Amino acid sequence: MDSDIIIVGGGAAGMVAAYAAAKSGASVTVLEKMSRPGRKIMISGKGRCNMTNLKDWNEFSEHIHPKAAFLKNAFYNFSSADTLEFFRENGLETVVERGDRVFPASYKASDVVDTLLSAAKKAGASVMTGSEVSGIFRDDDIFTLDLVSGKRMTAAKIIIATGGLSYPATGSTGDGYRWAAGFGHKIRHCFPSLTALVPADYKVSGGVPQGKGHISRDLTPSELGKALMGNQLKNISLTVNIDGHTVMEEFGDADFTDGGLEGPAGFRISRKCVNALENGSKVTVCLDLKPAVKQESLDRRIENLWEEISVDSRSQRKSQDERFRILLGKLMPSGLVNAFLRYHPGTDVRRLGKRIKNWEFRIAGYVGYERCVVTAGGISTDEISQKTLESKLIPGLYFAGEVLDLDGDTGGYNLQTAFSTGFLAGRSAALK
Ligand SMILES: Cc1cc2nc3c(=O)[nH]c(=O)nc-3n(C[C@H](O)[C@H](O)[C@H](O)COP(=O)(O)OP(=O)(O)OC[C@H]3O[C@@H](n4cnc5c(N)ncnc54)[C@H](O)[C@@H]3O)c2cc1C
Repeated sequence: MDSDIIIVGGGAAGMVAAYAAAKSGASVTVLEKMSRPGRKIMISGKGRCNMTNLKDWNEFSEHIHPKAAFLKNAFYNFSSADTLEFFRENGLETVVERGDRVFPASYKASDVVDTLLSAAKKAGASVMTGSEVSGIFRDDDIFTLDLVSGKRMTAAKIIIATGGLSYPATGSTGDGYRWAAGFGHKIRHCFPSLTALVPADYKVSGGVPQGKGHISRDLTPSELGKALMGNQLKNISLTVNIDGHTVMEEFGDADFTDGGLEGPAGFRISRKCVNALENGSKVTVCLDLKPAVKQESLDRRIENLWEEISVDSRSQRKSQDERFRILLGKLMPSGLVNAFLRYHPGTDVRRLGKRIKNWEFRIAGYVGYERCVVTAGGISTDEISQKTLESKLIPGLYFAGEVLDLDGDTGGYNLQTAFSTGFLAGRSAALK
């Protein structure tokens, strides 16, 4: 046998699994298809890597979907505090930012990858890059792995840590789902999460979805899209309506980009919206530019501002439209004025407050795996032991990371999920 344990995938989950298994005394080999491990970590947090979140389990679990309870045991075995301690012991200093988010003190994702790799190697694991697995079989309690290179390897136990489907150029192309299904595991429907939502008419094609709501990020933006793009909104709220029912409201910041509506609040609503769009539901998002101000107060403020502008000597020669633009400029970022006017032709001072608090966007689709942060859905947790992450169907087969039907919000929750499940799978496999 080549190794006690072979781990397929040298990402966040795979490298922590290798560390934990090797530390527990097993001989461990990681097979990673890319020329370097941890390619996805390299682009995480815009290259800064928001590596974990220090919230305690009660709060942390609110950010995990769809069944946070499945993660609880793994989290307690290797919590966010343990992640911090692990990196500190291995020489990486960290900093904590707003919202309990943790980053490497260097703000370099590459330092996180280097630390993970050196910790796994120091513990005794061997990491083989450029080693793409094409098939996994089990015979007489032994797993055989076929590599694209033609090589064959065997192990008593394997851990599948191949990640999800997002950013396939980083190496995660969903191979783990195929193997798990081959071993009889249920795969829960996968869809992109933490992704841009594309308002109707944002793209030149009219925002017509390709397939089930997927709209390529590369499509040229329409004039409307161009007017919205580049606007970064602070302290706004987004309310999601699905088939006419309000299902959630999120406060915070949001951005309009070449993809559509994203940023922290946009990402937080994306999971529900994408899922609804894929089910054929109608999705609208209401943007409130002044969530902290009540409608009546805003209306009064608008009246007062309008009066000030009207009596201001500098406005005397200006047309009604020009004065209205000045008013808008006092109520929203100047870059948003053109888009607001395009969206609300004919709005007058009397109705302005309502429009500002209730700017409705019909959502035509979403940006897909090519640029989403995480894959929702995956290998069903129903047939996996929560205590060990071993398959309940195939002894010796373990799963860790995003390949599982577990996904988190932005804020360090996804990497911590990968670290926690990687650690538990690695240690359980070694101790079995
Ligand atoms: C742009 C972006 C930014 C992000 N930012 C953050 C952030 O700041 N904080 C956070 O918590 N999360 C973030 N995430 C999410 C987080 O990076 C992932 O959830 C996490 O990396 C998942 O870890 P994993 O080990 O399960 O999978 P991956 O990191 O995807 O690793 C899977 C590995 O398996 C390898 N592999 C796949 N198939 C095979 C095969 N057949 N043979 C051999 N190897 C194979 C792949 O090459 C890959 O290296 C971000 C994601 C993206 C895309």
